[in-house]
This record gives sequence, structure tokens and C-alpha cells, in this order.
Amino acid sequence: MRQIKNINIVLEDKVIYGNLTIKDNLILKIEEKGHYKKGKDILIPGFVDIHIHGGYSYDAMDGGDAVKNLALNLPKEGTTAFLPTTMTQSYEKVLEALQAINNYSLNQDENAARVLGVHLEGPYISPNAAGAQNPTYIRKPNIVEFDKWNKNAGNIIKKVTVAPELDEDLKFVKHLKKNNIVASIAHTTANYETTKKAIAAGLSSFTHTYNAMTKLHHRDIGVVGAALLHTDVLSELIFDKIHTSVEAAKLLYKNKGAENIALITDSMRNKGLPDGISELGGLKVIVKGNEARLEDGSLAGSILKMIDGYKNLITALDLSLVEASLSSSLTPAKSLKVDDKIGSIKVGKYADLLILDKDLNLKETIINGKTVYQK
Ligand code: FE
Repeated sequence: MRQIKNINIVLEDKVIYGNLTIKDNLILKIEEKGHYKKGKDILIPGFVDIHIHGGYSYDAMDGGDAVKNLALNLPKEGTTAFLPTTMTQSYEKVLEALQAINNYSLNQDENAARVLGVHLEGPYISPNAAGAQNPTYIRKPNIVEFDKWNKNAGNIIKKVTVAPELDEDLKFVKHLKKNNIVASIAHTTANYETTKKAIAAGLSSFTHTYNAMTKLHHRDIGVVGAALLHTDVLSELIFDKIHTSVEAAKLLYKNKGAENIALITDSMRNKGLPDGISELGGLKVIVKGNEARLEDGSLAGSILKMIDGYKNLITALDLSLVEASLSSSLTPAKSLKVDDKIGSIKVGKYADLLILDKDLNLKETIINGKTVYQK
């Protein structure tokens, strides 16, 4: 039993001041003693990052112990659950990565961020919107290949980024929907009409909204327009202020709100490391300052940490603590239907919690009721 006393607690719909009791791995009791108290520490739910390739020198495509090591490092930035995200590669290479992640997920380290499954980004994307995805291995959606991957890796895939214009009769999107896997659009040149049909067929997410998708034109609002118009369809957002400008993010929040926007990092191997030359999906990446780019200048993932994205939401967009926590925890958890166990501070949920100081700096990360990181 542990009690966290006299702290601001960010709940799903309000911030209170009070005490929280943890028993074993669960939140047992929340006691309200008053309103938000300025200058006091803040307790928020752990971050859920549904799009992350790597960090701290590890990448989800590496196989072996890479995802375990990534999971052990993520509490340093407040992430307590995540979807390791694969890249466009050969059948064998992707299978190897999926199997390594599945093996680890069956026997997870209790001091590490939870692996919730895999986000498969590519290879079923458009060569004309490849971004940092390796064009050599890009191909059309293939249900037979996909099922072989998923079957041979314990059905670990929970989300897939796909270009629907390459999906004949939207069969693949429908297949994902039927199997309870989130279909998400990006790396696409689809027009609005195709996007709308894909949403009707079961597409339920926009991957890294604004990036690697058709821009808004007033006679065809494209995929970006669809993201703004279809307010109940989830939008992932990399909010490092590089992948998305502050104004673009404001526009998105004005349209669909924190309950439909998930903060993601889309980070790559070099997050948490010094500047230098790195690799993503077999392509050379140059990391300098806050940016990771291919040799041709394309952005190649980010080096964003969830805690910094969270701060950006509050300082640059004026979001409340409640709204920022929706985007960083509950909304992504809901999108994967794991919000019965994680994603907010509620009695009965796992005690996956973060203690921040009054300036939103991370002081402590708690997973399953146990302190796994302390500054
Ligand atoms: Fe991408």
C-alpha cells in the first residue's frame, strides 16, 4: 500500500487536490480535499505512445532484446505503455521484428513501459508519399501476407498505417476492421473521396496528421481536410513544433478536441542520444538539434519525448492539464480499447502514474504501483 498525499490530481474531467492510495498494482482510493493548488506537484496518468519506432539507441525493427530495452528506457520520459512501430521492410525482416516483440510482450519486465501490441507502419503505403519509409520494399496491401505475419507473431498487430488508394475495393481496410485492428491513413496520395470511402469501410485513424498525406485544397480537401472534417476519427499528432506548426495544431484542436487527438512521438533510435549519424528503416538519418532528417532533407521520425510533447500542448496551445492528459493518455488508450485498465486516474485502473513538479518537469514514473523512474 502506498499513499501519495497532498498533490494535484488530474482526473478525466477535472483537477482536484487530495490524496491517492495504491494497493498492489491498482488505484484503490482517490480522496478529494479541495481544488487545484498552485505551486504543488501534479499527478497525471502515464503516457500512452501509440506510434514510436525507437529511442535511447534501440529500434523496434532491431529484433532480439531491442524492444525490452526501449521499454526499460521509456519511463524516463513518462511513457508507461506503447505500441512499438515497425517500418517498411522485407517480409522476413518485418516477421523477425514482430516475433521478437511478441516474445517479449508475453513475458514483460515489470520495471518497463507496457508493450500493448505493434503499430505496423508500411509496407502497404504509396511510393509517392514514402517520407522516410524505404521505397524498395513498398507494396500494395496484401491480406495473405499480413495474416501470415500476424498469425506467426501471436496476433501482436493492433494498428496498421495504410494508403487506401492502393487497397482494391478497400478489402484490406475491411479486413482490419473485422479483426479489431485499427486502420490508419498516411503515406498516401488519396483524395477526399477515397478517404471518405475508407472511413465508411472502417478506417478509424489519421497517422501523424498533416505529415505524408494529401494537403487541403478547396476543391478537394484531401486527407488533411478529412482529418479536420471527420471530427470523431482519431488524429495522431507529433507535437514537437517541427512536424506540425503551432497554428496547424491549434486548427486541429479547435476542430476535433483532445478526445479525438492522440499525442505521439514517432521517435527514432537517436532520441535521448547526442547529435550524429543514425539509421531508420535501413536509410541514413542525420540528427541535429531537435530534428532527424534523411540526406534529401525529409523528416525521418522525431526525437520528441512524450513529456516534452505534453509540455508543448500546455505552453504552446494553452490546453488545460485535463485536455493535455486526454491527448497523451486516455484518447490513445481508448483508440486501442484498453481504457478499462489504463489511460486515466480512476479507481480500479492500473497505477501507471507520473508525478510532475509545478513546472511540469517529470519527477517520478510509477508503473503497476511501483516506482520505476525517479529524477
Ligand atoms: Fe510515418
